[in-house]
Amino acid sequence: MRKVLTIGEILVEIVATTRGDGFLDVQPLVGPYPSGAPAIFVDQVGKLGMPAAIVSRVGDDDFGQLNIARLREDSVDVSGIEIAPGESTGSAFIRYREDGSRSFVYNIRYSACGNLQPSAASDALIDNCDHLHVMGTALTAPGLRDMVLEAGRRIKARGGTISFDPNLRAEILGTPGLADDVAHVLAMTDLFMPSGDEVFLFGKARDEAAAVAELLERGVKTVVIKRGSEGASVFEKGVRYDAPALAVTEVDPTGAGDSFGGAFLSFWLAGADPAVALRYANAAGARAVTKLGPMEGTSTRAELDALLSEQGVEA
Ligand code: ATP
Ligand code: MG
Repeated sequence: MRKVLTIGEILVEIVATTRGDGFLDVQPLVGPYPSGAPAIFVDQVGKLGMPAAIVSRVGDDDFGQLNIARLREDSVDVSGIEIAPGESTGSAFIRYREDGSRSFVYNIRYSACGNLQPSAASDALIDNCDHLHVMGTALTAPGLRDMVLEAGRRIKARGGTISFDPNLRAEILGTPGLADDVAHVLAMTDLFMPSGDEVFLFGKARDEAAAVAELLERGVKTVVIKRGSEGASVFEKGVRYDAPALAVTEVDPTGAGDSFGGAFLSFWLAGADPAVALRYANAAGARAVTKLGPMEGTSTRAELDALLSEQGVEA
């Protein structure tokens, strides 16, 4: 079986239990929950039984331990997670406003994962994995960017594959050098999983079909567009399938895209039909939003099958 590698941040997330604007008042909070986009993604891959590993860095503290314990429990190879003595694990405080938008307080850049460097353990994982999943956010931190690009080149040179979730907003693309890095990753990408308008970030096309056609023309094998509560679509040359969103009660949308991506990749790597991979990923995204905490809604195969059959969708 193929083994999946991802590289990037591990955090805890602490969530305000009331809606409102930010953290200027004393207020009830709940957490810590395991988090970090690459960590949520790889947890979902591990839960579906696909060999998977993450290269990351945490502090020598409870926040780091709870993340490592969760990933290990869900069968993720944690040998590439360095525990940095005297440093602190990253954290994110999040509060939903009445309109569903979010305010954040982040402690990431100056936390343990903000200072990730190549190590013997990360080197061994790059040599042992056949697939790299790139989170676009990793390209915004200089050391991390170098590691990700180098891992991509090495894995691809050995005949491996690459998936890419840009996780970027158009504004950040103005960062010097970032557009080039993103284009570089895209040129190596086999499976591209943008959400919404991110499909337009890379070419000149202004309508979705043309943007997708351009990506497939450039050598991307599969494009998956995530559409939040509108579901998702998958495209390959001459192929398009759409999955309407499953009817669930949204409690916490954070992490849906990462759970969706982890599930889609697991089926894609196993050689599933794109329509089947899409239905399972759509179910993984739907389950993710029903649970408070970004990694709490990752799913086993049995849980995805149960949701699909409950909603009368043939897997
Ligand atoms: P994020 O980066 O915030 O994790 P994203 O933008 O990458 O999210 P979304 O499009 O928000 O990803 O969600 C991913 C997928 O999860 C959707 O394509 C859909 O399949 C599923 N999903 C998301 N929200 C809902 C919802 N309210 N109801 C049902 N399914 C949902
Ligand atoms: Mg996303």
